[in-house]
Amino acid sequence: MKRVVISGGAGFIASHLADRLLDEGYSVLGLDNFLTGAERNIAHLRSNPAFAFRVQDVTLPFDVEGPVDYVIHAASPASPKDYLEFPIETLDVGSIGTRRMLELAEAKGAKFLVTSTSESYGDPAVHPQTEDYWGNVNPVGPRSCYDESKRFAEAITMAWHRARGLRTSIARIFNTYGPRMKLNDGRVVPAFLDQALRDQPITIFGDGSQTRSFCYVSDLVDGLYRLMLSDEVMPVNLGNPCEMTILEFATVIIEMTKSGSGLVRMPLPEDDPKQRQPDIAKAKRVLGWEPKVSLEEGMGPTIAWFRGLVKTGAVVPELALKPAVPAETVA
Ligand code: UDP
Repeated sequence: MKRVVISGGAGFIASHLADRLLDEGYSVLGLDNFLTGAERNIAHLRSNPAFAFRVQDVTLPFDVEGPVDYVIHAASPASPKDYLEFPIETLDVGSIGTRRMLELAEAKGAKFLVTSTSESYGDPAVHPQTEDYWGNVNPVGPRSCYDESKRFAEAITMAWHRARGLRTSIARIFNTYGPRMKLNDGRVVPAFLDQALRDQPITIFGDGSQTRSFCYVSDLVDGLYRLMLSDEVMPVNLGNPCEMTILEFATVIIEMTKSGSGLVRMPLPEDDPKQRQPDIAKAKRVLGWEPKVSLEEGMGPTIAWFRGLVKTGAVVPELALKPAVPAETVA
């Protein structure tokens, strides 16, 4: 049985990736410090003998016993709200955390995959974004803690590959949605669904003409899995090219939830990218990957998930710093 170590293992995307890896017959060790991850994301895996979990801040020194075949560094605050609240932790996990995960991969002779972001392109001047575009990032703006952290993560990954011969891959993940997102995450999908399901006004930042492209989490995970198995070293965009304005997205959410919500305008956050759409030609070519789940299909389970959260009032604590699980649980 091949073994994968995933940082951010209790996070939205990494927990879905763990599900997929377990289905494919891998054993998985998840690491997470619960800064923004949630125990409930992995609760269903606790009885699976192929799954182990450890509360671990990967910016601190740590060891992993036994052989490891793949190391995936997916730990990071990922919503603007979270990384604005934790700018230093965000920079640390992209820099020190990436280095520690690279060291683990090297020590184990494992393949390394880092989850980077479309934010590497900043507020892009090239549209749609291709992997060879170097981006338009404000290095000292409020989002720079995330953008530059991920850009550094890419740089150190390439350095490890070039200088030390480590097998590495870089995924640039675009906006992704699905069950297990937090209600109070602040990102547009949780925010709009929370508001729509409670018939509260939908908060449109700016004039709503900025665009995003939304990928369902199972599609994204399939792309990550294929990239993990591939020999592709240079960055690969993973996202759904189906682009829409935030205003259009609000209308879709209101229709799909049959909500009575209206719209309310709020100030546009500083450095909010005006447009974002992945060019996925490379992912198609090198991974044979493209998204299959339409927004209508993906929104079904996502709305059901948020309906449950709204009904039970299950707001994940903003500061889940105190882990609710034992320090180490190896199933
Ligand atoms: N947005 C919005 N209202 C909200 C939350 C977000 O209009 O309540 C906008 C935000 O300004 C951005 C887009 O939706 O243009 C996507 O924001 P998100 O926080 O999901 O992530 P981003 O793609 O900016 O990283």
